[in-house]
Amino acid sequence: MRQSWHERFCDSPDVLKTARCDQTVVPVLDAEIGGRDFITMAGPCSVETEFQLMATANHVRRAGARILRGGAFKPRSSPYAFQGHGLAGLQMLARARDESGLPIVTEVMSECDVPMVAEYADILQIGTRNMENYALLEAAARSGRPILLKRGMMATIADFLRSAQLILDNGNPNVILCERGIRTFETAMRNTFDVAAIVLLKQISHLPVIADPSHAAGCRDLVPALARIAVAAGADGLLVEVHPHPEKAWSDADQTLNFAEFDDMMASLDPYLALRSQIAPQELVSADAMEAVG
Ligand code: PEP
Ligand code: MN
Repeated sequence: MRQSWHERFCDSPDVLKTARCDQTVVPVLDAEIGGRDFITMAGPCSVETEFQLMATANHVRRAGARILRGGAFKPRSSPYAFQGHGLAGLQMLARARDESGLPIVTEVMSECDVPMVAEYADILQIGTRNMENYALLEAAARSGRPILLKRGMMATIADFLRSAQLILDNGNPNVILCERGIRTFETAMRNTFDVAAIVLLKQISHLPVIADPSHAAGCRDLVPALARIAVAAGADGLLVEVHPHPEKAWSDADQTLNFAEFDDMMASLDPYLALRSQIAPQELVSADAMEAVG
């Protein structure tokens, strides 16, 4: 007989659904991630200038985004590429929150920076390259801020859930899982969007699950379709890169949407979101999911 999900993911018992805990809802100012509303987080890959950030914040809010993203500390392939504005970027994010009312999600890359980033951010993002940086996870967890945990690009679902479990072990129940694509033999796209992981995580875990179609695709033409697929797969929200002039973006230009493209993507989600609101959560997640065999 094959293993049940509970046996398979026995290292991470507290992230799995139980009769007592079916769904965690993470409150962030006026937004609830994992609740009834589908939550879109949008903004530039990197915080660049006051104009770029404010224009994007105001635009994505009007288009229906509920949370503003933007990197002040950037993990880059080259140590000589733009590394982010650091504290000045966090201060720009805080001003954008004051002006737009949108809560902020931003990445923290080092445990030393956790207190500073937690002072400005409403959600701390742990990037794909740091999913198994346990010292960082522990420090971020103890800040008390909700954690957006991105799946490591080489991480299995068991690895991903173990990292989430570590955050819970450090006293922080507010973890949002983010599928952002994984490395496979396929090289046509930047990553391979693991949509089945979204379906499985929604079935077995009570934590909210969001999708990042921008990093999954690496190419802006594919982002809207992957976003629609994420809704259909049962995701609780999206993380999408948007910039007033993507071709001039200082990082991730190829995968970033301009304002009109973001508006079109949001409009294209509507029929899928309407269907989502008609389907009761228990129908999306089969009753015997936790008994299912691997
Ligand atoms: C990002 O969100 O800009 C980012 C660097 O993401 P990831 O860690 O998924 O590559
Ligand atoms: Mn990026």
